[in-house]
Amino acid sequence: MNLASKTLLAFLLFGLPMVHATSVSFKESSVTPEGDIRLVFAMDKVSLVNAYALDDPSRIVIDLKDVMLGEMKTVTIGPVQSLRGIQEPDLTRVVIDLNRSVYWKKPWQVKTQEGVLLILEMKNNQSSAKNIRDILVAIDAGHGGKDPGAVGKNILEKDVTRMIATELERTLRDTQGYQPIMIRTGDNFVNLDDRYQIAREKGADLFVSIHADGFRLSSVKGASVFVWSEEASSITADNLSKKVLATDPAVRSKIGKLDIRDFDEDAARALYEIAYEAKIENSTILANHILKYLKADPFTKMHKDQVEYADFRVLKSVDIPSVLVESGFISNPDDAKRLSGKPGRRMIARGIFLGLHDYFKEKPKPNTIMDNYQGFLVYEVQSGDVLSEIAIRFGVSVSEIIEWNKLGSNPIFPGQEIMVRI
Ligand SMILES: [Zn+2]
Repeated sequence: MNLASKTLLAFLLFGLPMVHATSVSFKESSVTPEGDIRLVFAMDKVSLVNAYALDDPSRIVIDLKDVMLGEMKTVTIGPVQSLRGIQEPDLTRVVIDLNRSVYWKKPWQVKTQEGVLLILEMKNNQSSAKNIRDILVAIDAGHGGKDPGAVGKNILEKDVTRMIATELERTLRDTQGYQPIMIRTGDNFVNLDDRYQIAREKGADLFVSIHADGFRLSSVKGASVFVWSEEASSITADNLSKKVLATDPAVRSKIGKLDIRDFDEDAARALYEIAYEAKIENSTILANHILKYLKADPFTKMHKDQVEYADFRVLKSVDIPSVLVESGFISNPDDAKRLSGKPGRRMIARGIFLGLHDYFKEKPKPNTIMDNYQGFLVYEVQSGDVLSEIAIRFGVSVSEIIEWNKLGSNPIFPGQEIMVRI
């Protein structure tokens, strides 16, 4: 960012306090029914949040954009020793000092009548050598409810996407260190804007939207992976593009008056340029990893060999790497057959999982299992699991799982933890 736009940003953030009269204040602390420690902060609107933990001394840091520092109180509860608020030129920092390392959850934002609550939880009884949290993956099953998506013979896109999403959810839920966030779980309608807003509210590390296309020509087939592109888009936010923003004073005041109750992703592209550029780069890396696995899978035929760019609205989060996977064309008989069966859908879910796992190997998130990754995942065996299915799920062989875990001929059992080297 050049000096002019930095100055402008400072002007936008601090020069118009009445317009941007938004702040973060400590609201309350409590112990949840599960015994976890909960800290609640009050804000006026949804913010761009970057939360991370540091060790020696142990602390959790929450960086908030476009929010002024409000009132912080002395808080001592569980491992929490104190709260500090720091006003930096381009962000507000809240530091939670801890007396030991904790297992914590990324803070999430809840909209209420009065404003937005920012909630941070950590385990009180579980100790860990380092501060650690789960990686949150938002899974967006395309369409749903009144919106069937593409309609094939005896097959609806909304059902295919939900079943693939559920498959992916299971793998993430039962693998230590990962946690799925389901944008929809049942056959319900969720509008496009709500989909990426949910990912923001929950603090997702990644967003994957799952679709299955339809086309008037039944010969068109195969899977593709998409990343958001501003160039490919027809968004009406052209007047917010960085060039105009930096030069046109009339546009400045217009932006200053923006009244957005929620987070405006289109405006955010101009405001948080660095975060947006990283998001596009990371989305492309993620998409290429997923594409690699879909290509390698003998079940799945590809529609396009390269990552594609489009203005799919669900992908436009300013800072959350987001991809859209078209798992095939249900208007094509071969694809419809593949996506009607569990093996075919599982291959899509597996490709997404292995792809995002490789992504986090390349771009490790601090305080997660992928930060200093030990080269294996731990999967918790579920009731009804068989080794051959677990092997397919992770793209390894049954004999490998037996060898890694020295299982011999012993049967597996629910709750057992299995090491998978991927
Ligand atoms: Zn679709």
